[in-house]
Amino acid sequence: MQNPKPVCDSWFATQKISESLYRIHEHHYWEWNRANLWLIKGETQDLLIDTGLGVASLRQHIATLIDKPLLAIASHVHFDHAGGMHEFDNIAIHPSEAEALRQGDANAALCAPEYGWVLDEHFAELPYPGFAVTQYTFNAAQPTQLLQEGDILDLGSRAFEVLHLPGHSPGCIALYDRHSQELFSGDIVYDGELLDLLPGSDIPTYIATYERLQKLPVETVYPGHYHSFGKDRLQQLMADYLEAKRQPGCPSETSPLAESK
Ligand SMILES: [Zn+2]
Ligand SMILES: [Zn+2]
Repeated sequence: MQNPKPVCDSWFATQKISESLYRIHEHHYWEWNRANLWLIKGETQDLLIDTGLGVASLRQHIATLIDKPLLAIASHVHFDHAGGMHEFDNIAIHPSEAEALRQGDANAALCAPEYGWVLDEHFAELPYPGFAVTQYTFNAAQPTQLLQEGDILDLGSRAFEVLHLPGHSPGCIALYDRHSQELFSGDIVYDGELLDLLPGSDIPTYIATYERLQKLPVETVYPGHYHSFGKDRLQQLMADYLEAKRQPGCPSETSPLAESK
């Protein structure tokens, strides 16, 4: 049976935030799981943070914007962020999720059919004729660089520090510009329902991540989902999360450590 949905003209939409920053997203895909893909233009190299589902060519889409070596970074291995990594030559990810990317591990990427998280109704239009969610696969990609806590990515004009902030997944990384106090946060924090019960998530670790992040000077957050926000909203989101998770009965309150006090 023919799928009645139209095939889209362009799978990606690009928004120019500034001369050196673009937000790209998959505007025909379900808003709730639609990732922000960030292209940062530097002086000596460009960075691409996340690559989306991998159902259309992001490399082609951004080709006219790229005039320097490009490093594609997976904020973490989930399919809405790392699905398109295989298209790029220079690929970076945290070591704890590198093997999952190398293997194209659909379980770690959360797109194995049994999860039921890649659904036909999430596609308003199709990325190409004949696209079917039943054939969706998470593409394996060979990381060429591992990014760890404290690594510096020097773009000439500016530099980013890699922060390892697990909790949502073991290998979540954020990129932090200490000078401008901008944080590219992936799924570590965004202005929406935070997911800490996924396979690979860990609530006590998430709490520790936020306790660390609360002390970091941040002016602007460019998150993995939804809109950007400033320091007040960031602090509010983290405070709300910590308050909810520290309620009596929550794991952090009933851990052996807490009971021994
Ligand atoms: Zn995620
Ligand atoms: Zn996500």
